[in-house]
Amino acid sequence: MKIHEYQAKEILKAFNVPVPNGGVATTPEEAEAIAKDLGGTTVVKAQIHAGGRGKGGGIKLVQNPKEARVAASDIIGMDLVTHQTGPEGQKVKQVWVEEATDIDRELYLGIVLDRSQSRLTIMASQAGGIDIEEVAASTPEKILKVAIHPGIGLQSFQARRLALALGLEGDQIRQGVAFITALYNAFIATDCSLAEINPLVVSKDGNLLALDAKMNFDDNALYRHADIQELRDTDEEDALEVEASEFDLNSIKLDGEVGCMVNGAGLAMATMDIVKHAGSSPANFLDVGGGTNVERVKNAFRILMSDGDVKAVLINIFGGIVRCDRVAEGVVQALSDLTVNIPIVIRLQGTNAKEGVQILQNSDLEFTVALGLKEAAEAVVEAVKGAA
Ligand code: GDP
Ligand code: MN
Repeated sequence: MKIHEYQAKEILKAFNVPVPNGGVATTPEEAEAIAKDLGGTTVVKAQIHAGGRGKGGGIKLVQNPKEARVAASDIIGMDLVTHQTGPEGQKVKQVWVEEATDIDRELYLGIVLDRSQSRLTIMASQAGGIDIEEVAASTPEKILKVAIHPGIGLQSFQARRLALALGLEGDQIRQGVAFITALYNAFIATDCSLAEINPLVVSKDGNLLALDAKMNFDDNALYRHADIQELRDTDEEDALEVEASEFDLNSIKLDGEVGCMVNGAGLAMATMDIVKHAGSSPANFLDVGGGTNVERVKNAFRILMSDGDVKAVLINIFGGIVRCDRVAEGVVQALSDLTVNIPIVIRLQGTNAKEGVQILQNSDLEFTVALGLKEAAEAVVEAVKGAA
């Protein structure tokens, strides 16, 4: 789960990570009042879950409360387009107004799980404020990575190495060690999956400050954090993915034209590969999971169909624990409740596959039944091309 910058800053502050003072506003008047309280120059920052807001025009440095109001009225309500949003952008509902910082240097500090090492990895770089993926790709030597032993946790020598890699000197090393340790503590205590401070700045007066803050949380641990769960902003998520999660279904939005209903992540990957191989690409995939019943299939199908990009549907189910006849019943029921006028290709294999196909063929609905994966993919791609 993702949260907004201002929410991350509130959490980090509680863990003694230094962050600028500020407040969140949903109207220009509120922004003006916050700027007045803060005094001096402030920064008005669009709150959306995507990064790259600065380049997209979502961050404005202002001199006084009146300018803060004007900036907020420009930013609130805008469809902010960044390299992480997609071309239609993301509607801004609120801004974070914070004390402006006189920046000397912009650094990078991040913590992620490195799956190849099965360890948390802390990354530090002096190349902050810019796209870290690009730094990692073109000049990886500019990033120091330190793996953390899960049983021991962050050790002080590791924090010092990271602080030195940030180019800190004198008292800043102590500040850096405290900063890194505080960020790590916040990460562990809240079950983060990612924490990123980009930029971590050294101010002109020599202090370290988290100027931006990104925290993602491990969904499987959210049950332990009722307070963090409350921070979820479903407006920032894909509407169909949100609806799917309400039914405990996994749905992923993609940018192609074939709607894919599958069971299991592995089959989802294989299905997407073969759709691509056959010459089209998936609009989404919806994983109905293991213990599927008629109701779940019905909801899954309804959600899949409400994606406007879907030109044809491929249902690819391998019946292990899931019985194919139940899937077939769910699809038939869903289709009789909905008005569907796009082609559907179904491939059922495994437990009760024959019965499943029988149910489909006995219904008065239109399907293409395919036996093999290749045949199914080719049929659905042909259907997409026919529909276009
Ligand atoms: P992002 O573009 O979504 O990653 O948003 P950031 O919060 O990282 O801000 C982008 C850039 O805006 C930073 O790298 C800074 O250069 C600039 N910026 C943000 N806050 C301040 C501030 O208080 N003072 C100054 N001078 N620049 C700021
Ligand atoms: Mn940033």
